Amino acid sequence: MAAKDPADVGALLRQLPSVEEVLQEPTARALLERLPRWAVLDGVREALERARRQILTGGAPPEDLAAAAAALAEAKARPSLRRVINATGVILHTNIGRACLPEAALQALLQAGRAYSTLEFDLEAGARGSRQVHVEGLLRRLTGGEAAFAVNNNAAAVLLAINTLAEGREVIVSRGELVEIGGSFRIPDVMRKAGGLLREVGTTNRTHLHDYEAALSERTSLLLTVHPSNFAIVGFTAAVPLAELTDLGKRHHVPVMVDLGSGALADLSPYGVTGEETVPAVLRQGPDLVTFSGDKLLGGPQAGLVVGRRALVEKLRKNPLARAVRIDKLSLAALEATLRLYLEGPAAVEAIPTLRCIALPAAAIRARAEAAAGAVRAAGGDLRAEVIPGSSEVGGGASPTETLPTFLLALRSRSRAADALEAGLRRHDPPVLARIKDGDVLLDLRTVAPEELPVLTAALRALAAPVT
Ligand SMILES: *Cc1c(COP(=O)(O)O)cnc(C)c1O
Repeated sequence: MAAKDPADVGALLRQLPSVEEVLQEPTARALLERLPRWAVLDGVREALERARRQILTGGAPPEDLAAAAAALAEAKARPSLRRVINATGVILHTNIGRACLPEAALQALLQAGRAYSTLEFDLEAGARGSRQVHVEGLLRRLTGGEAAFAVNNNAAAVLLAINTLAEGREVIVSRGELVEIGGSFRIPDVMRKAGGLLREVGTTNRTHLHDYEAALSERTSLLLTVHPSNFAIVGFTAAVPLAELTDLGKRHHVPVMVDLGSGALADLSPYGVTGEETVPAVLRQGPDLVTFSGDKLLGGPQAGLVVGRRALVEKLRKNPLARAVRIDKLSLAALEATLRLYLEGPAAVEAIPTLRCIALPAAAIRARAEAAAGAVRAAGGDLRAEVIPGSSEVGGGASPTETLPTFLLALRSRSRAADALEAGLRRHDPPVLARIKDGDVLLDLRTVAPEELPVLTAALRALAAPVT
């Protein structure tokens, strides 16, 4: 763009309205009826500031300043943490909040947030109590562990356990298990921060019992095994069965800990998730401690759960770090309510959204997809909707190589590229998250709850509506 005469720039700047003038315009006045005053003011100020900068850099001022201010005000008034519709088919997706809570858990956390509670108060004794009592008995009963302890998340559970049992001493881990989970949780880094000295054994693809045995010394404090979570090593591989490792630990009086990651309480093999042993099944193989997450396959709130031998759990409890990683009251309330649902046995599958999503038969997903495809076709426009077979992922580090059969709604347009369609869904309110494959936008309705279907249909109609 050609440089403007400084006199023109001055004139353009003088033509800009004042904040007060913009606020008097009908657009802004209508906005003030709906949005908080601070958001409208911020929006107007920012729109004016942008216009000034545009003029100073030789550009033209915006045609409709009030509309620009309105868009900014809308964005400022909206919460930053927003609900999204998950049409990705990944059931446990860390970036969008992992498990959706059961209704009973939502009620419990609402109650715990609204009123005072027996969080750390023993009503019988009229004295201070422990927040752990609300979940310890349930966790023992559901896992078969001798004792249990809940903390902020599983990363904190691993940190606390290593710091308690292995500070300044060696922890033996197989090279094939030195994993990174979600970019920020790396076993070697957590080990260092916890004060444990990593003693790697075996190779990336093969580790044998004699590798562990050869590494044992008077410096050894812990044998650690880590669920590989988000990857699988296939081909020429060897790992030591847990029962053999725990046997080795017992013979040498060295505790064995399993970082299980996802940690299922229910057997999910009837629904096609066969690669995950349940927490009780893992405990039966004799490890001293098992740690797992509350918001992965368990389907509850963010939490880290430690179950296992009482003497070790007591040591963790007494570590001053336990206070720094303690579970908050809202999560605790939601966790207790979620665990109670497991006491109902198979009925828990219906009450816990994560399990319900896993158990959902492909035929039911197909019916949802067909209904959505019908809505797209009825809307007219050039959006083509097809229902095709595909696969959903459990996510959350469970069964990295396993998928669940599903049906996908595939969208394609002659006039718009797949990434434009995907972005259109993402900019809807509430945003709809989908994926792109081979030029198609794919929506998996396994992870869209029945009550969300009308919202999804509205987003699809808006996308399909002929561009005018
Ligand atoms: C997910 C995972 C973690 C971290 O758990 P958070 O609850 O996210 O802190 C640690 N270890 C393994 C093996 C995992 O899969």
